[in-house]
Amino acid sequence: MSGVGKGVATASIGALLKARGLRVTAVKIDPYVNIDPGTMNPVEHGEVFVTKDGQECDQDIGNYERFLNEDLSSDCYMTTGSIYWNVITRERAMGYHGKTVEVVPHIPLEVIGRIKVAAKRTNADVTLIEIGGTVGEYQNILFLEAARMMRLEQPKDVMVALVSYLPVPGNLGEMKSKPTQYACRTLNGAGLQPDMIICRSSNPVDDVRKKKLSINCSVEQVDVISAPDCDSIYEVPLRFRDEHVSERVVKKLGLPKATVRMKPWNDLFKNISGAKRPVRIGVVGKYFSTGDFTLSDAYLSVLEAIKHAAWAAGRKPQIEWLNSEEYERDRKAMTTQLKNVDGILIPGGFGTRGVEGKILAIQYAREKKIPFLGICYGMQLAVIETARHILKWKDASSTEFNPSTTKPVIHLMDEQEEKMKNSDYGGSMRLGDYPCKLLSGTKARKLYGKDLILERHRHRFEYNPHYRKKLEKTGLVVSGESPDGSLAEIVELKNHPFFVASQFHPEMTSRPMRPNPLFLGFVKAAAGKR
Ligand code: GLN
Repeated sequence: MSGVGKGVATASIGALLKARGLRVTAVKIDPYVNIDPGTMNPVEHGEVFVTKDGQECDQDIGNYERFLNEDLSSDCYMTTGSIYWNVITRERAMGYHGKTVEVVPHIPLEVIGRIKVAAKRTNADVTLIEIGGTVGEYQNILFLEAARMMRLEQPKDVMVALVSYLPVPGNLGEMKSKPTQYACRTLNGAGLQPDMIICRSSNPVDDVRKKKLSINCSVEQVDVISAPDCDSIYEVPLRFRDEHVSERVVKKLGLPKATVRMKPWNDLFKNISGAKRPVRIGVVGKYFSTGDFTLSDAYLSVLEAIKHAAWAAGRKPQIEWLNSEEYERDRKAMTTQLKNVDGILIPGGFGTRGVEGKILAIQYAREKKIPFLGICYGMQLAVIETARHILKWKDASSTEFNPSTTKPVIHLMDEQEEKMKNSDYGGSMRLGDYPCKLLSGTKARKLYGKDLILERHRHRFEYNPHYRKKLEKTGLVVSGESPDGSLAEIVELKNHPFFVASQFHPEMTSRPMRPNPLFLGFVKAAAGKR
């Protein structure tokens, strides 16, 4: 079922297998027809994560990277659209040598081929494959078919885990296992017998229900895994270890037994539960229309990166989701809200809505000397704020939301002009890792502790170098740039406790055990305020 925690379950199994010394990679399959989520509305999809090689993908890839502490690549992601696209392109190129190309077997074979490439390129001992959606729905049947065919080909090397939700209806107060039994039957109908059932629920699954599920689903009782809600997702690997999950996986796949080294996870857990003093971070964004849940989902990696940094700083992260659109109508509301946070963060974004409110929040952070971190759009808007309020270029803007501005301090990158003219929107932004040179004597250089870094990008617009000299005179200096000096990557304000903004997305390289330096600097500055 979507949203039930398959991603965290997959990532946690991966973490445990890695803790046994195995090489692990993970693949996410999304059942929609879009080639990737890059063109989808964040309210529809949540966050778009970007791999180092520039693949726009599902936020689960972010979870895998955070739990496995490894960079994944475009090999690790596929959608129904991308699979069909490949098959059709190959057919047009006579790649099937005149044969009839059919949904079955050619689509599942393409899926299997892609999985094998991911496994081979990473030299993985175990490849975890997460099939999105719910068993029984029409959309993912071909992926289940791929799993069935793989298992037929290599029965000893493939195992299937069903992640299922066990409701505890309020009026009964009793956990129900029937929906899981039906899910198992549905999976059986697709020709797959689960080897393991991961039982997601608000409560732990007791032995009575484990036994019931074991008998009715033909799974050994030890393979019915209790997976109750946890305070932190980073607790899940520890809980799975208590349920002997990786022991069972290793046994079934005939992999060598080894001790599970969980020290980093135990230490992280200690940090998380030991952090009592809060640090309050206000995330000023938009996307509120369907409620707070969607908002935090759209900024998932940002949220995680704040947490990683806070725990490393010994603080309890307290995140306030603040609506920039409200600030446009009501400045008092803004002051009341921003007075109560220790740090202000403006995440990435697109389009016009809520932009002016974000600029007001940046002005507040600058003038009141509140630690500020701007990401992508947040950086561009910080540049606009300085141009408007310090240089007094009232019309300063980005051509993204004011195409006729007389002071386009943020403008479309050259290579993007043509793409936009041709409505070439899919996968066409400046995506993935690009190097950034850090300038000596700056906060950014100090935080990273080196001269050259690689960070993930996802943008079309950029800081207009034409205005750089004048903008830098205000004290808003470029502290990171592309190695040839043509693109601004980081700006920071002198004479401010912490005012740093990056064109790249530092949240995407943050890991629970290795917080991103910009986030760490920001959260520490915020923590210093109290
Ligand atoms: N909309 C801006 C651009 O395309 C910023 C993108 C972002 O924040 N990810 O450049």
